[in-house]
Amino acid sequence: MTTNGDPVGIPSGRQTKIIATLGPAVESAAAVSALVGAGMDVARLNFSHGDHDGHRRFADWVRAAALEHGRPVAILQDIQGPKLRVGRFPGGAVELPTGAEVLLVLGDGRAAPGTIAIDYPYLLDDVEPGEPVLLADGLIRLEVLKRLPDGLLSRVIEGGVLGDHKGVAFPDTSLQVPAVTDKDRTDLAFGRELGVDYVAASFVRSADDIGRVVELIEPGTPVIAKIELAAALANLDEILVAAQGALVARGDLGVQLPLQRVPLIQQDILRRANRSGIISITATEMLESMTESPRPTRAEVTDVASAIIGGTDAVMLSAETAVGRYPVRAVEMMDAICREVESGLRESEGVIDIAFLESRPNFASATAKAAVDTAANLKLKTIAAFTESGNTALLLSKYRPHGRIIAFSPEEVTRRRMALMWGVTPIAAERRDSTDLMIALAEKYLERSGVCEEGEGVVVVAGIPPNQQASTNLMKLHVVGDRRRRRR
Ligand code: PEP
Repeated sequence: MTTNGDPVGIPSGRQTKIIATLGPAVESAAAVSALVGAGMDVARLNFSHGDHDGHRRFADWVRAAALEHGRPVAILQDIQGPKLRVGRFPGGAVELPTGAEVLLVLGDGRAAPGTIAIDYPYLLDDVEPGEPVLLADGLIRLEVLKRLPDGLLSRVIEGGVLGDHKGVAFPDTSLQVPAVTDKDRTDLAFGRELGVDYVAASFVRSADDIGRVVELIEPGTPVIAKIELAAALANLDEILVAAQGALVARGDLGVQLPLQRVPLIQQDILRRANRSGIISITATEMLESMTESPRPTRAEVTDVASAIIGGTDAVMLSAETAVGRYPVRAVEMMDAICREVESGLRESEGVIDIAFLESRPNFASATAKAAVDTAANLKLKTIAAFTESGNTALLLSKYRPHGRIIAFSPEEVTRRRMALMWGVTPIAAERRDSTDLMIALAEKYLERSGVCEEGEGVVVVAGIPPNQQASTNLMKLHVVGDRRRRRR
């Protein structure tokens, strides 16, 4: 907001939002600013790596870059969750030849030769002979042969080299892991201190798991459920009610389930999250080859396009920006793919049509649907919304208008959260005391910023009476410049 209270900021023209993971590849204020300049809407702090001081520095750089570029950028705290890991090996790695036998033992430290330490206290109780064990993102596969007093005797079915602290998964075993670990508790307390805008919960299995995270975060912070376990898929309906977003975590999903199932599961999660009126995110290996190469593969570009066509609100970069050689180019590439696919979809009228959200049978949702339908009927390019919590902007976004959603909010945290919402441009605006003054404010911004021309129609959505936390209940059609003409 400027000093005279006029709203500032301009729409980027891209509808799909870009999340970029921060890490050693972008460890400076200048690098983070370059990511924002390239189009990063949301910065992901991955608490599986790094320390609190490092995350704090990143958060400060993100906030500074957002100010510098004049647009809000959200911070997403991604907690590690109950991910199981192996211990350490002499020299940092061990070779596991196919056909060899190995003993899985309890512990998180260095294991004796011929053994692998695993930090899961119920290892000997829960894992049955015949069950598979996947190591290092599924690259190495074992099968448990026998329970012995001191460990699980296992055979290497697909061998490889296993490094220190690599992940371990038991896809067919029912594990007694807690939803939130001690590390997560400490990290969530730190996230509260940082004032993160979203929290992503890893390895959730049920709505109760989401509830355990909600108890530990700043009230009102939206939780994104990372869908990466078979149990989460089985309980998806209840998770989509409890969470404010769903992230297709294709990395771990592809370890827990046969890889070939991932594409249709992705489509299913995106469709169901969108129909539940919550944010949908597609993640992992989207432009993976860009960790090493300045250009992605054709298959990766097509993968990003498929996610957009499938209705994702946001696409996420992980290693590409956190440890890759071309972090800024990866964001630029993502931006270019999104723009091209979106414009093609608009031209072919291929924008997803979401029926009235039955999970939200309320005034705000009905008003949002009416606004999007009206904009489509009259071919209006702009919907201007006034929102305190961001809920109206999210609903408008879910109904997938062809044009842009300009969302005015006096709340800074709301504006940052709206950075993740598909098609939404958050704009700072002070509260106004009447509908007329709200429309005047919108009109002034739309004309001055060049978003609309004089004589152009816009759909205005608001809650009245103003400033009383009224649910969105008003849709007004307005011609830009009309008020001025009437005054002349
Ligand atoms: C994933 O598994 O795809 C994922 C996003 O989670 P993480 O990067 O934390 O492993």
